[in-house]
Amino acid sequence: MSEVVDHLAELTGFRDRDVMDVTLVSALRDLLEPRSVAIYRYIGEPGAERWLTRAHLRGDDAVATADPLWLEPDRLPLAAAFPQRLECMRSRTVLQWQQQPLADEAEAGPAPKSALDWINLFPIATERDVIGVLEIHSASRLKSKSQRMVSSVLRIYHNFQGLLDYSERDTLTGLLNRKTFEESFLKALSELSTLAQVVAADPQAGENDRRHENIHPQYFLGVIDIDHFKAVNDGFGHLIGDEVLLLLSRLMRSSFRFHDLLYRFGGEEFVVLMRCDEGVDAAHAFERLRHNTEQYAFPQVGRITVSIGFTQVRVGDSPAAAFERADKAVYHAKDNGRNQVHNHADLVSAGQMREVTQLSDMELF
Ligand code: GH3
Ligand code: MG
Ligand code: MG
Repeated sequence: MSEVVDHLAELTGFRDRDVMDVTLVSALRDLLEPRSVAIYRYIGEPGAERWLTRAHLRGDDAVATADPLWLEPDRLPLAAAFPQRLECMRSRTVLQWQQQPLADEAEAGPAPKSALDWINLFPIATERDVIGVLEIHSASRLKSKSQRMVSSVLRIYHNFQGLLDYSERDTLTGLLNRKTFEESFLKALSELSTLAQVVAADPQAGENDRRHENIHPQYFLGVIDIDHFKAVNDGFGHLIGDEVLLLLSRLMRSSFRFHDLLYRFGGEEFVVLMRCDEGVDAAHAFERLRHNTEQYAFPQVGRITVSIGFTQVRVGDSPAAAFERADKAVYHAKDNGRNQVHNHADLVSAGQMREVTQLSDMELF
């Protein structure tokens, strides 16, 4: 019992979700001694959903493995390839069965039954919906007492995630709030400066790391502002205005990738912190949102548009300086007809804007 409590204390000691997932699988491995334990998140576009491994630990692994968040989605396994996981999520119940021998193994003669894993699936839910599964492979059937223990640990994990959401997310849209931006920005910056040091020490290293997908060096910050939103409020009222904000946040979720960080910064202004291989990928993603918004029929209101500015995050940047560059690009869009996407660096090289001098963080944050 005290072992369980120790693990729960550890689980709720972190505010970083990546660490929490790794801590959860480590705790369950210590408590149950299974063959493996893993958390799979259900992600992706409707019709092309996939499984992202958040944490996976086998009995003798020293550390948990996980899919890098920036992995191309089409390299992840398709959701439909694991129908039992889908069934577990749909039914919101625990599923348990013994693995069947593969066809060619069956031909080679019956495998000893004890060699086949028992698979146990537990749904992982948030306040809003079921987001994935916990999968435990064990040598024998998991006893109902152990199943109850896993379900209770998952409930604590779920409640704790709910508390994190409450402090980190905007209540209307469910996007991250402004408070959490600086921390993520600084995390991205420290990754960039680590890479800069590696590359300075060995100019080949950056290339190799990129090929091995260990380090992807580019971050972009985008600012999104709704065009003539005051007219929406004035014409249809604040409630309808709020619904537009909620629907726009959904368009953002489907226009960007799972690992891009989406914020509601205030009112009708949104921020995206994205990690990409190249500037053109960032430009495509922002253009996709601009296009999706323009095409969407907002109930009662009809069509609305957004103006977007973005900038590459630089080594030595501050959150305020990067935000200021992207925001200036938004103003440029506003001054030139709205419903446009602009990269700050392109505006500077075209002579349409001057470089922003470094700001102190006090001025904006
Ligand atoms: P522009 O194209 O220049 O951005 O014009 P705009 O009308 O969108 O810009 P402005 O900044 O003048 O107006 C923003 C409006 O957003 C003002 C306010 O009525 C509205 N707003 C801010 N926060 C909220 C909110 O939480 N809910 C609703 N419904 N409206 C909000
Ligand atoms: Mg505004
Ligand atoms: Mg606006």
